[in-house]
Amino acid sequence: MSETQRVTDAPLLSVRDLRTVFHTEREDIHAVDGVSFDIYEGESVGLVGESGSGKSVTARSILGLVDEPGHIEDGEIQFRGDNLVEDGWDAHRGDISIVFQDPSNALNPVYTVGNQIREALSIHQDLSGAAAREEAVDLLETVGIPDADRRVEEYPHELSGGMQQRAVIAIALACDPDVLVCDEPTTALDVTIQAQILDLLDDLRREEGLALLFITHDMGVIEEATDRVNVIYAGEVVEHASTETLFENPKHPYTQALLKSIPGRTDPGQELPTIPGEVPTPTEPATDCRFAPRCPKAFDACTQVHPEPIDIEETETEHEAACLLYPDDRPRQEAVELHQSKTEDDR
Ligand code: SF4
Repeated sequence: MSETQRVTDAPLLSVRDLRTVFHTEREDIHAVDGVSFDIYEGESVGLVGESGSGKSVTARSILGLVDEPGHIEDGEIQFRGDNLVEDGWDAHRGDISIVFQDPSNALNPVYTVGNQIREALSIHQDLSGAAAREEAVDLLETVGIPDADRRVEEYPHELSGGMQQRAVIAIALACDPDVLVCDEPTTALDVTIQAQILDLLDDLRREEGLALLFITHDMGVIEEATDRVNVIYAGEVVEHASTETLFENPKHPYTQALLKSIPGRTDPGQELPTIPGEVPTPTEPATDCRFAPRCPKAFDACTQVHPEPIDIEETETEHEAACLLYPDDRPRQEAVELHQSKTEDDR
């Protein structure tokens, strides 16, 4: 999808300054801390980060599935212009559907695949009886399950891992969604099956006009499957750009480190670089750069000033990085002051 096409359309899903906090007995965990991004119809967008970065909580927030003691404390999730945080999810249940990582957990072992698809069809499309069975068979064919008329009566354990994930996608499609959230959809699968599932999701995007949101730690999946990408760290989006731009010209030191740690990007025999340390648990609203303890480019101000998203002007398409090194065409102190004044304006 071209940038020009996107600017003329309204986003299908718009997440604005989303804040999801878990109030535990010991502390508050700011798991999602001011995340914003858009998804347009028929587009594939990635949310990438390490484990504990807040990407899965962002996905659950979008679906209205945040478990206690978590709450969406602030921000908007606009779907087709309705703010789900204010209005609730009831009017749009099924419009945003999810494919979880492990199909063997997502499927109920005591019901046939057909039963599970028919249940979703009954809730979301008011179909029952022979019509629901016929639609279930059609959906299994759509997701590439051969001999669908027979397999619709099979139990999950009778299917291979790849076929199970296809069945999970069929159940998600039975909700008749406009947006499919894919939470690590290929992590539990072996490499050849991973590629087949990504191809299937891409076909669905092209043929059915589905918008896809990939939640993943895997930069390989991002490169293969998305048009645009948001890099998330400790609850904040630290860089977003078109996928092509992000891979060619990453600006944030965290993105640069993630890209260096992709297998196949190092010379043969060279050890794969890893990012030392772990993602911190954000227990306070951010007043500094949360990546500073792990950042090879950190300087004094990084522990005192919160980096705000800065437009990377050298790139023609939308590209922002939240790092005190930018804008890099002005003296460092001036750049830091720009971030400070943006933080003050936001208060
Ligand atoms: S703000 Fe400082 S610590 Fe944070 S990513 Fe940029 S250089 Fe590194």
